[in-house]
Amino acid sequence: MSGTYVGMPAFPRAAAAATRDDRLRANLTHATRTIRDKRARAVAELDDWAQLRAAGAAVKDRTLRRLDHYLEQLEAAVIAAGGQVHWAADAEEANRIVTALVAETGEREVVKVKSMATQETGLNEALARAGIRAYETDLAELIVQLGGDLPSHILVPAIHRNRSEIRDIFRREMGRWGRPAPEGLSDSPAELAEAARLHLREKFLSAKVGISGANFMVAETGTLVVVESEGNGRMCLTLPETLISVVGIEKVVPTWQDLEIFLQLLPRSSTAERMNPYTSTWTGTVDGDGPRTFHLVLLDNGRTDTLADSVGRQALRCIRCSACLNVCPVYERAGGHAYGSPYPGPIGAILTPQLRGVQGALEASLPYASSLCGACYEVCPVAIDIPEVLVHLRERVVEGGPVTVRGTRTVLRPARGHAAERAAMRAAAWAFDHPGGLRRGMHLAARTRRLHPRRLPGPGRAWSRTRDLPAVPAESFRDWWQRTRGTSSEGSGRRDRAGGEGT
Ligand code: SF4
Repeated sequence: MSGTYVGMPAFPRAAAAATRDDRLRANLTHATRTIRDKRARAVAELDDWAQLRAAGAAVKDRTLRRLDHYLEQLEAAVIAAGGQVHWAADAEEANRIVTALVAETGEREVVKVKSMATQETGLNEALARAGIRAYETDLAELIVQLGGDLPSHILVPAIHRNRSEIRDIFRREMGRWGRPAPEGLSDSPAELAEAARLHLREKFLSAKVGISGANFMVAETGTLVVVESEGNGRMCLTLPETLISVVGIEKVVPTWQDLEIFLQLLPRSSTAERMNPYTSTWTGTVDGDGPRTFHLVLLDNGRTDTLADSVGRQALRCIRCSACLNVCPVYERAGGHAYGSPYPGPIGAILTPQLRGVQGALEASLPYASSLCGACYEVCPVAIDIPEVLVHLRERVVEGGPVTVRGTRTVLRPARGHAAERAAMRAAAWAFDHPGGLRRGMHLAARTRRLHPRRLPGPGRAWSRTRDLPAVPAESFRDWWQRTRGTSSEGSGRRDRAGGEGT
């Protein structure tokens, strides 16, 4: 694994390779089943979960409708509290701003709180190009970084690794990044956690610059919120002299009262806890307490384009709980790397093509990385109708219609399989429009049923390799109707329609 998502193959190819990896599948099955069972129990404790969910969705929709207003309110509040606000139109600009801010401090090392936004922008690689080393401090992110790997889950980025793999990574890599792993390190969770704690403590105590994301931003006071389980975030947010937070613009909520809803929805949906062990909030800077300088980098990077799509915009409600990943049968088999972005699973399938635009085969394949079973929608704490957005995005891919790529309009050519699907749909439309032709076709299909292949030829071969083609019955419904009722089903249908129109 390369440490970058750039140039990754389309989903079907990556997923085919992943499904052949028995160890990966075993790790994923065990982890996702454990988390989803715990989540179900935590959610069942609340009688008003449905109302909370509806309230969360409503607050997000209301905020997105007036996003410009709340962002300006947030900006004013952050500045009034002593912080500085920067606007980044895309990943490149965000990375440029952060790199310049770190360079200004003269530091060559930074500590990081787990952040999806900075994974999205590829900040660590950008900092490395400028000679600045970023240390991940979340335990799972540390495992991923030391292993030269990529995150494969929103909440548990190293979900694809088991304990013995983690022990081997610690033994092999920790010494190259700082304090080495203790002699004779075993794969017991307590020993692994202690090794990480000792290794990271050195970083916390020496770092002068911290970089974070945020789970929420409260517009009315300019407050940022990070929730976490390990306490590493609290260290990064309080010990360094300079704090830089890179946050997607959709993370704003108007008031503290709105925040209250999400602080109930998020922990039960993500870690199956009643509340997060650490909830850190900060507002600008305070003399003698915490970082002396605070920068907020507000990241667009395709979010405004997503907002312009009346169906797709609901993806911006996402609070990154990862519940949809843990119930997804496709994710459980394919794993997170197959999605080719920091956002795997069902949310990645709808978010990545919208944030990046449909630039190529990977983005065009993601809306198809789903069985449309709807389990993701059922568990989503902000009621994002992921299947609806998937179908909407498939429509755009098949139609080859205009697709927005960062403000420019481009035309996506449908892939070969999609062209075949479109031709099949046209043929079906013609048949249903010509009852005589449909009847003759059904008779012919019934008479030749023994000759029908069990597998499709050409581009349909791969599709039918894992599916049973439906057997054609010896007698069609129309013939059965005529034989048993003595009248044509076609004729009676026509009479019914004619009667309806007359009333
Ligand atoms: S789409 Fe819903 S379930 Fe999935 S990560 Fe986002 S908020 Fe959680």
